[in-house]
Amino acid sequence: MTLEATVVGAGLAGSLTAVALARSGIATSVYEAYLDPAGTTGGFINLTANGLGALHSVGCLEQTQARGIVVNRLCLWSGEGRLLGRVSRSGRPAGRAMNLTIMRGDLVAVLREEAAKAGATVHTGRWLASAAAITDGVSAQFIDGGRARCDVLIGADGTHSRVRRLISNAVEPPEYGGHCAIDGVTRMPGITAGSLHLVVSRQGCFQYTAKPDGTVWWSALVPTGDLDPAELADVSEQGWRSRLLEQYGQGETPCAALIRQSATQGRPAPLYLPQRMPHWRRGRMVILGDAAHPVGYGLGAGLALEDAVVLARCLRDIDDVPVALTAYESLRRPRIDRALRAGVRYGRFRNLPGRGWLDTALAPLYRRYFWGAASSWLLAYDVEWHRRVRV
Ligand SMILES: Cc1cc2nc3c(=O)[nH]c(=O)nc-3n(C[C@H](O)[C@H](O)[C@H](O)COP(=O)(O)OP(=O)(O)OC[C@H]3O[C@@H](n4cnc5c(N)ncnc54)[C@H](O)[C@@H]3O)c2cc1C
Repeated sequence: MTLEATVVGAGLAGSLTAVALARSGIATSVYEAYLDPAGTTGGFINLTANGLGALHSVGCLEQTQARGIVVNRLCLWSGEGRLLGRVSRSGRPAGRAMNLTIMRGDLVAVLREEAAKAGATVHTGRWLASAAAITDGVSAQFIDGGRARCDVLIGADGTHSRVRRLISNAVEPPEYGGHCAIDGVTRMPGITAGSLHLVVSRQGCFQYTAKPDGTVWWSALVPTGDLDPAELADVSEQGWRSRLLEQYGQGETPCAALIRQSATQGRPAPLYLPQRMPHWRRGRMVILGDAAHPVGYGLGAGLALEDAVVLARCLRDIDDVPVALTAYESLRRPRIDRALRAGVRYGRFRNLPGRGWLDTALAPLYRRYFWGAASSWLLAYDVEWHRRVRV
C-alpha cells in the first residue's frame, strides 16, 4: 500500500521534502498556511555547497541556479571600508556552484513547482491547528475546520512550529536574539558580479551582492533588542533607515550608499538564537528544518534542505514509519548538534563589543574558523540520496 505523507509548511524544508517523497512514490500532500508565502519575506539567502548538494541530489539544482547569483568569491570588509580578506569559492565540479545567493521567495517558488511536477499536491492558505494519533496514522486538523488523514505527519513549519508543540509542549519557544534582518534592492554601478561582500561592524553585519545587470541585493543585521518582535511592524520606513544609517552609515562606504539610495523591501525578519530541541518525533509525527533546530544566522537553509532529503530517504527505505523516523533522527542529530555549536560561536564573534581596529586583528581568526578548513565539515556533506538506509 502506498504510504501517505502530510507535510506542514511549504517553505524550504517542506517543499524539498515533498519533491523527494513524491519522487520516491510516496503520496504527498503539503499544507501551507499562507496564500503566497513565496513573496519577498526573508530577502535573499546564501546557499552553501552542502545545501546545493542536497538540491542536486534530487534534481533541483539547475532550476535553482537559474534564479540566483553564483558566488565565486567572498570578501570580508571592516565597517570603515577596509578589505580584511578574500576567499575563493570557485573550483567545484563543473556546473556545481559552491555558493549561490537567491531570493528566498524564488527558491520556494522553484521547489514548489518541482514538488508539483513530481506529483505532490500543494495546498496554500491552510493553517494546521492540531493533530492526533489514530490507529496506524495521524489525523491533522486545520483552522478552516478541514481534516486530513495520513501515515506520517511532517512538521516543516519553521521557527514557531505548531507540530513541535504537538510532539512535546514541554519545550521553551525559540528566544529572540535582539537582531532583525532588513533587505533592500537597488542598482549601483561598480560592484562586480560574482562576489558576496560581508561587512562586519559593531553588533551586526551587512552583506551585498550584484547581478550581472547591475542590480544589487543587500541585507543588514540591525540591533533591535529595545523592541519586542511584535513591535517591529510599528517601525516606519524612516525609522528603519535611521537605525541602518546609525549602524552602517559612517563614511563613504558602499553600505552607506546602498542604504541611502534604496527603499527597504519586505518585512524586517527577527532572528532567533540557536536552540537544541530535545524532541524531534513522537510516534508518526516528526519535525525538520527550523522547526527542529533554529541555528542562528547563515546556516539554517542548507541544513533544512539536507534534513529534507535524509528524511525522505528514511521513509523511502524503511517500511515501519516510527522506525524510519528514529533512523532519521540518529542520522541527523550529531551533525545538527555540531552546527548549533558553530552557530553559538558565530553569534559570540559577531557580538564582540568595541570592534573597530579589532576587526583587522580578528579577520584571520574569522577566516580560519568560519570560512576556512574549520567549516569543511559543514560544506562537504553528502545526503547520500542514492544510498539505501539500513537499520
Ligand atoms: C532574514 C533571514 C536571512 C537568512 N539568511 C540565511 C542565509 O543566508 N543562509 C542560510 O543558510 N539561512 C539563512 N536564513 C535561515 C533560513 O531562511 C531558514 O533556516 C530556512 O528558511 C528554514 O527553512 P524551513 O523550511 O525550516 O522554515 P521556513 O522557510 O520558515 O518555512 C516554514 C513554512 O511553514 C509555514 N507554516 C508555519 N506554520 C504553519 C502552520 N501552522 N500550518 C501550515 N503552514 C505553516 C510558513 O508559512 C512557512 O512557509 C535566513 C533567515 C532569515 C529570517
